[in-house]
Amino acid sequence: MTAARAEGIQCCAASRKKPAPESAGRLPIAYVMTVITLTFDNGPEPDVTPRVLDTLRRQGIRATFFVVGEKLRERRHLAERAHADCHWIGNHTYTHRMPLGTIAEPGVAAAEIERTEKLIGDLAHPRRLFRPFGGGGQLGPRLLNREALRYLQKKAYTCVLWNVICHDWSRPDGWVERALDLSFAQAHALVVLHDLPTGAMRDLDRFIAAAKDRGATFVQDFPDGCVPIERGQLTASIAPYVSGNDRCTAAS
Ligand SMILES: [Zn+2]
Repeated sequence: MTAARAEGIQCCAASRKKPAPESAGRLPIAYVMTVITLTFDNGPEPDVTPRVLDTLRRQGIRATFFVVGEKLRERRHLAERAHADCHWIGNHTYTHRMPLGTIAEPGVAAAEIERTEKLIGDLAHPRRLFRPFGGGGQLGPRLLNREALRYLQKKAYTCVLWNVICHDWSRPDGWVERALDLSFAQAHALVVLHDLPTGAMRDLDRFIAAAKDRGATFVQDFPDGCVPIERGQLTASIAPYVSGNDRCTAAS
């Protein structure tokens, strides 16, 4: 881990006491202070992404948008707006149809990454952020095949996973409470949300306000444990996230 990376991470597992309201007449409640990083996958979406950007600006939070290449073709202006607001733009495959670890056909996985990165162009973060499509948010060998792994290493990508999945896309009602519970179980929560037209993002402001009220601090950088590849270098065991589903011989 570089010094710059270390600086960006402000994990703190310490708890703190928050005074109870004077009128309550009860003992103070202990809150666990946590750090939260927000990421938004599968956009951009014209009816949702601008609303999310407005909320983040109002709340003073910078996040990362992992965009789908196919959507970016016609909607790059939305990613440009996010970039202008100092959010980071990452690559979330071109079609987002199959987890890369399930692909056996040579060349497909690398192309899913490469085509999207070309469309991201100069909006890309210098660390070349890439998030694999998990299929239901599952961490496991479906995330990458060996071709994708070699491509990410060769092209110096940073692979960003997650540690909080609140199923905002499949169960848009109630995600706020799930996300709060899961986030406060982590010292540094890396939350996956989706700027998709499900209605869930109408509650983004409520989630952020509730998390702040409980003592959370929002940061843009990712917890080390969620970044198994940093600029092409392995920083942790990658084996749990790579399938043997790879018949090809050329990485790129
Ligand atoms: Zn996704």
